[in-house]
Amino acid sequence: MSIVVVGAGISGLSTAWALTKRGVSVTLLEQGPIPNPLSASGDQHRIIRRAYGGMGGYQRRIGDAYAAWDEMWSDLGKKHLVETGFMLLSQEPGDGGETYRNGLIEGGYTLEEYSPSETAERFPFVDPGTIRFGGVSPEGGVLLCLKIASDLRDWLIANGADVRENSEVTSVDASSGSVTLADGSVVSGDHVIVTAGAWTLGLFPKLAVKLTTYRTAVVYLTPPADLREAWERAPAILDPGGKTDGYVLPPVPGTGLKFGAGTHRYKAAPNQDRQAKPSEGEILRNYFSPPFARIEDYRIDDVVTCAYTFTSDEHFFATTEDKATVVSACSGHGYKFGAVVGQKLAKGVVSGDLDSARRWLEARD
Ligand SMILES: Cc1cc2nc3c(=O)[nH]c(=O)nc-3n(C[C@H](O)[C@H](O)[C@H](O)COP(=O)(O)OP(=O)(O)OC[C@H]3O[C@@H](n4cnc5c(N)ncnc54)[C@H](O)[C@@H]3O)c2cc1C
Repeated sequence: MSIVVVGAGISGLSTAWALTKRGVSVTLLEQGPIPNPLSASGDQHRIIRRAYGGMGGYQRRIGDAYAAWDEMWSDLGKKHLVETGFMLLSQEPGDGGETYRNGLIEGGYTLEEYSPSETAERFPFVDPGTIRFGGVSPEGGVLLCLKIASDLRDWLIANGADVRENSEVTSVDASSGSVTLADGSVVSGDHVIVTAGAWTLGLFPKLAVKLTTYRTAVVYLTPPADLREAWERAPAILDPGGKTDGYVLPPVPGTGLKFGAGTHRYKAAPNQDRQAKPSEGEILRNYFSPPFARIEDYRIDDVVTCAYTFTSDEHFFATTEDKATVVSACSGHGYKFGAVVGQKLAKGVVSGDLDSARRWLEARD
C-alpha cells in the first residue's frame, strides 16, 4: 500500500510515522522545511494536560495520547516531554480556571487546591490579591515540538519514507488519489491524507463551511531575576483565570517562558500578518496582569505569530471523499493528540475504516 501525506506538522509527521510502522510506503510532502516555523506545530513547546472543561471526550482520551507518545519516545530513543504538571488559577466565578477545575472533578480526576496565599507562597509570581484559588495536577507537561519534528523527520528517512521538504502541493485529486506539486509533478498513492493545518482551505475552499482560519501570536519573556527560579520549577499554566483564555509555558531546559491568549486571535489567511505588530509583545504580556505581579518587569524577548484552524465547536474534523481524507486536528488544542491522531489515521486507512478514526477524533462520546 502507498499513501501520500500532505503537510508535515505534528499530524502529518505522526501519520507518516504510524503508517511506516505498519509497513506502508509513505510519501510526505511539506511546503517548507521540517519543522516549519510558520506551522502551528513549529513553535518551541505545547502543553499536554487532562483538564478539558466541558469537552469530556478529550479529557477521557488523554490516556491514549500519553500511550502514543510513549510509543513514539521508544522509537525515537528520546523522550521529548518534560513532566511539569499543570496549574489552573481562578480570578472570577465561571472563568476558565473554575470551568477546568469542575470538569476534572466531574470526571473523577484529582486536583490539589490552594488558597490565594498558599498559591503565591508556592508560586511567587502570582499576585494573591487577584485570585480565588489555585489548583495543581501532576499529570501534565510540556512537549518539545521542534525536537519532536526533527527527530520524526530523521526517523522517517531512516525507516524508508520518502520525505520531501520545500514541496508545495497545489491541488489534490480525490478520485485518482494523486496530488500536483508547485513544479507541476504528480505524486500518486492508494490514498492521500491531507494534514495541511491553516492552509487546508487553500486546497479545499468548500471546507470553509466547517473550518475557520485564525492568526494569533505568543510572547517569549525573561522574568525578573528574583522570579526566575520559581518559573523554572513552575507547572504549565492551562488557564490563569479571568477573561483572556490565557496559557503559560514555563521555561523548561532549552525553551523560553511563553505567554499566549486565546482572545488575541482574529480571522486571517495563513500567510497574512506573519510579522509581529509594534507593541504586540507588550499587549500580550499585559493580558497577564492580573494574576501575575510586576508584569512590566518581564522583558520581552520575542513575539512569534501562528496560524491555526478551528471548527465552530472546537472538536477535531475529518472527512473522506474517494481516495482523499482531510484532517484538521487543531482548534487550538491538537498538539497533545498528535501522536495518537497519527495512529488512528494510519489504522483507519490501512483497515479501510476511516469512519472509526473520524469518530475518535471528533470525541463526542
Ligand atoms: C498559539 C497556539 C498555541 C497552541 N497551544 C497548544 C497547546 O498548548 N497544546 C496543544 O495540544 N495544542 C496547542 N495548539 C494547537 C496545536 O499547535 C495544533 O493543533 C497542531 O500543531 C496542529 O498540527 P497540524 O499538523 O494539524 O497542523 P500544522 O502544524 O499547521 O501543520 C500543517 C503543515 O502542513 C504544511 N502544508 C500546508 N499546506 C501545504 C501544501 N499545500 N503543501 C505542502 N505542505 C503544506 C504546512 O507548511 C505545515 O507544516 C496551539 C496552537 C497555537 C497556534
